[in-house]
Amino acid sequence: GCTANDLVTALKAAAATIEEHRVELIQLDRVIGDGDHGENMDRGFKAVLTALDANTPDTPAAVLKLVATTLISKVGGAAGPLYGTAFLRASTAVKDRAELEPADLTEALTAALGGIVARGKAEPGDKTMVDALDPAVRAAKGDTATELLAAAAAAAETGADATVPLVARKGRASYLGERSAGHMDPGARSTALLLRAFAEVAA
Ligand code: ADP
Ligand code: MG
Ligand code: MG
Repeated sequence: GCTANDLVTALKAAAATIEEHRVELIQLDRVIGDGDHGENMDRGFKAVLTALDANTPDTPAAVLKLVATTLISKVGGAAGPLYGTAFLRASTAVKDRAELEPADLTEALTAALGGIVARGKAEPGDKTMVDALDPAVRAAKGDTATELLAAAAAAAETGADATVPLVARKGRASYLGERSAGHMDPGARSTALLLRAFAEVAA
């Protein structure tokens, strides 16, 4: 199963992916938001790596909780509390298990989505990160972590692409009304990037 160390490896990959796509996320957010999403996420995930270096927690739940508190304090904007809540709910969902099996990963992803929805009140189709994570959770099935995360990442990518024609109903992009259509939602894109990084580590 997936140990605390495996999770740390996955988070390092996630931080690298976010750094690599920082400008892309900034550009997506510049078109329908305020242009800070790439900066916010890169700062947050760099802070996660620093926190994990300073104090490596020994259970998956403790790793997820440290990620949550770091993202909440460092990312800011809409995405900070939303991703923070997601990791916090995932931490609670996995309890004190030393290793996460595929069913635990599905539960963690389901809990993460539940946290984002509870906090942000977005529904599928509102052009938010929910449009990547909701299909990912529904696709997150399989006998192995490899299979499950590959399916989740693919569904998240399709979901993020499908935000392009949508009109935003939540967050800053909703201020643009109809003019938000024709552009991908930056938060949906960052969710797809995170899941792809996790899937690649598990491959
Ligand atoms: P801000 O908009 O405050 O600058 P970010 O740019 O970091 O914050 O994040 C913007 C992203 O947050 C959006 O692209 C969207 O995916 C997500 N988002 C905003 N509001 C909500 C919400 N209520 N529910 C879910 N996701 C949201
Ligand atoms: Mg922004
Ligand atoms: Mg902002």
